[in-house]
Amino acid sequence: MPLHDMENDSLKRCSKCKKEKLVDEFRGKNQTCNECCEKKKQYRENNQEKIKEYTNEYRQKAYTCPLCNIEIKTHRKALHEKSLGHQYYLQQFNKNEAPRKPDKIDTTGGITSYYCFACKCATSPNSWGAHCMSHID
Ligand SMILES: [Zn+2]
Ligand SMILES: [Zn+2]
Ligand SMILES: [Zn+2]
Repeated sequence: MPLHDMENDSLKRCSKCKKEKLVDEFRGKNQTCNECCEKKKQYRENNQEKIKEYTNEYRQKAYTCPLCNIEIKTHRKALHEKSLGHQYYLQQFNKNEAPRKPDKIDTTGGITSYYCFACKCATSPNSWGAHCMSHID
């Protein structure tokens, strides 16, 4: 057997530390040496809380209120559900009535504004529900 083949057989380059190590230093078909695997494991254990927090934060970005159809952060959900706007949509939903529609939607410059002709005013979509509340006696 030629020498270089023997070398290839007994040495393996770790994909993490890029060092050539004996195959004994690798567990099974791992491309990462045991030392690096251990470090990774330790890092993960030490950072588990941080990773959890990060994942939570990430998830918080994805909550959409099904009633208001607006995106809110999960940690603001309770706050949002107490808001006037949400109360309006909830009330309409419970009454089985469609929420009031804006008389005009303007998207000039990428900013959406909802117009109410009765009040001659414009609000952001997020404040529309709260505005509609003022139309209910
Ligand atoms: Zn390594
Ligand atoms: Zn809502
Ligand atoms: Zn109005």
